[in-house]
Amino acid sequence: MSVNLLNYDAAGLAELMVQYGEKPFRAKQLLKWIHQRGEADFAQMTDIAKTFREKLAAGAEVKAPAMLAEQIASDGTAKWLLDVGVGNGIETVFIPEDDRGTLCVSSQVGCALDCGFCSTAKQGFNRNLSVGEIIGQLWWAENRLTAAQARVGAPVNEDNRIVTNVVMMGMGEPLANFENVVAALRLMLDDNAYGLSRRRVTLSTSGIVPAMDRLRDACPVALAVSLHAPNDAIRDEIVPINKKYPLKELLAACNRYLEKAPRDFITFEYVMLDGVNDQPEHARQLAELVRHVPCKFNLIPWNPFPGAGYNRSGRDAILAFRDILIDAGYVATVRKTRGDDIDAACGQLAGQVKDKTRRAERHAVETKPIIFRP
Ligand code: SAH
Repeated sequence: MSVNLLNYDAAGLAELMVQYGEKPFRAKQLLKWIHQRGEADFAQMTDIAKTFREKLAAGAEVKAPAMLAEQIASDGTAKWLLDVGVGNGIETVFIPEDDRGTLCVSSQVGCALDCGFCSTAKQGFNRNLSVGEIIGQLWWAENRLTAAQARVGAPVNEDNRIVTNVVMMGMGEPLANFENVVAALRLMLDDNAYGLSRRRVTLSTSGIVPAMDRLRDACPVALAVSLHAPNDAIRDEIVPINKKYPLKELLAACNRYLEKAPRDFITFEYVMLDGVNDQPEHARQLAELVRHVPCKFNLIPWNPFPGAGYNRSGRDAILAFRDILIDAGYVATVRKTRGDDIDAACGQLAGQVKDKTRRAERHAVETKPIIFRP
């Protein structure tokens, strides 16, 4: 069986080189070819000895998940459905903005956490993604976007990169796939690979407390926490992992994380669900709840999907909620909804996880035509 080199971070690749009877520093050369230049063809890696290139060609490969579908939203947001085998798909979203390009990366096929307002959760859990399948989303997106830009003659940025930021906010709970996610994060940060700063890589978690501590020690990147509720009663309902790690423990873990975090605040995500968690008294309770955690709020207007049983809060309710937080001294912003016309917005990622929850019945109309921006 072929060894997929996308599955290795720098340390792993160095070990692999030794197994090949090569010097560990070959790993650096390979990383640069694979991740900086997006090269998958060993024959092109001309500063590596021909005999070793042939050995690699015989027993190894650079293989990102293949694209099954591509959709481009009217606001330029791109969504790719990538094949991870036996009828499973994962989704990756690219969000272009004036000053950055953010890639939203998936970590699992489906999700086990069962947050009722999230479309991914509705599909149940299938499996963890491998390192190669996680970093492969970035490898793929960078290659795809570079090719698209080349076609229209548009320049890439000074680092030759189109993806400037990564958010682990796609399908799945990243901290429930800890080892593979950390290896992928290390590649994102590695100067021989993607060279992103820790501040430009954000991991979002529903609040798996012990894994937050492990991440702090293993690879502290910027942290977003899906808070979504001002008290345990509401959070137990909408983010069931709260029953295991209630707010008091979660907030203490946030403060421990900040001891090593690249930013001096935690981003609290708060999905705005009409009549559930969006009342003025909830905002006041929330302001009080997190008083001892340096933080910023990102309010997410809930994005609908069929059969969810929730409604998005009204514009006025969202702004009033935000203003109460601001008046209490917090930074609070409302997340701009991107790509919702192609179901690429937060909580709408579904892939084609092998049907555990009769998703097909709920999603009567599916994929729209595949086009790329000219
Ligand atoms: N499992 C991780 C990573 C997912 S990040 C986590 O829970 O943080 C995706 C973010 O979008 C999370 O904050 C999630 O709670 C939120 N979300 C999920 N479904 C949503 C929906 N339908 N509308 C808006 N936000 C949603």
